[in-house]
Amino acid sequence: MFKKDFEIFDKKYIYLDSAASTQKPTSVIRGVSDFYMHSYANVHRGSCHLANLATTAYEAARQKVADFIHADSKQIIFTKGATEAINLVANGYRQILKPKDEVLVCIAEHHANFVPWQQACFATGAKFKTFNVKDDGSWDLDDFKKQLSSKTKIVAVAMISNVLGVIYPVLEIIKMAHKIGAKVIVDTAQSIAHLPINVTKMNCDYLVFSGHKIYGPTGIGVLYGKKSALNDLPPYQFGGDMIDVVQIQKTTFAPVPAKFEAGTPPIAEAVGLGLALDYITHVGWDKIMADEQKVFAYLIKKLKAIPDIQFVGNPDLKSGLVAFNIKGIHPDDLNLILAKEHVCVRVGHHCAMPIHTRFGIKQSLRASIGLYNDKKDIDAFIKALNKAIGFFK
Ligand code: PLP
Repeated sequence: MFKKDFEIFDKKYIYLDSAASTQKPTSVIRGVSDFYMHSYANVHRGSCHLANLATTAYEAARQKVADFIHADSKQIIFTKGATEAINLVANGYRQILKPKDEVLVCIAEHHANFVPWQQACFATGAKFKTFNVKDDGSWDLDDFKKQLSSKTKIVAVAMISNVLGVIYPVLEIIKMAHKIGAKVIVDTAQSIAHLPINVTKMNCDYLVFSGHKIYGPTGIGVLYGKKSALNDLPPYQFGGDMIDVVQIQKTTFAPVPAKFEAGTPPIAEAVGLGLALDYITHVGWDKIMADEQKVFAYLIKKLKAIPDIQFVGNPDLKSGLVAFNIKGIHPDDLNLILAKEHVCVRVGHHCAMPIHTRFGIKQSLRASIGLYNDKKDIDAFIKALNKAIGFFK
């Protein structure tokens, strides 16, 4: 029903790869182009009319993000994506972590929320620890409690794993982590387009997401932080816009968020993200969630009927995305046929090797939905998948 808002669907694509990146509504594409045509200049620096227009649009986008996740605009830092937002925090922790400290991440994390923490531990001598998931893909909270200790300084978890698709009880572990004085960073790259977020209620210390996974442009992402948690972090990059006073002897830094936005930021991309959030608000969360649940339940029902399907985790616990294999057929082979049928899905380790290793596999085929998908897409996908299976069996 929302396909009409996305010009790309004028062509015959069966797009089931929104977990990798979402398509963009016409309102975002046109809005970004209008911004370039009528309001573009660099931000925060000039005083001409165009510079004022651009700065106003950029800061309005920051306010839209803040409103969207129930934060204050001073707590919103624009980055180029979730990956950069996590690296910003993990890089800061290289100056905070001590050799006896520990960092705890879930084994199901995307490499973006795994490797920066592992490397920060290697650099500081802190201990890098993981907690497990159960066979059904849910968090093993007993293991979490076992791994969490008074030495844990930071816990890094995704709200939804990009392989398992389970909505994790982040509130529960935030409470446990806070009791022992650890901070929590929540990666909402996979949940931001599917569930409303309230950082105030969640009480996380940091939260990140990418604009391109919520119908916005590439090259823009968000780091939210509690004021004290952001003040504690040293700057990530140095240069223009992030300074207060620069002298030969020393430099002082601008207050947050400018402290973390060195150089010319992704201006039009931020404006585009603001427009994408406007689009979500216009459609409404109730409608998005109700429609997606129906389409996704239909997808799972149809997949379950396929003989020899091997889900990664319990299919009934998933939401928005599902990873699986067909016994005896390499997923790359299946994908060759799917691609010929104009079906877009993702094959590989999905930048999450440790969780594939945990399940004793190297790769999987992942189908994921966005608000534009309908049951017809699922029927076309299942038809193409059965055709591919038939070809190889
Ligand atoms: N975290 C999760 C759970 C993801 O699925 C992804 C991307 O797929 C990322 C982080 C990284 O996002 P980006 O590549 O936009 O920085």
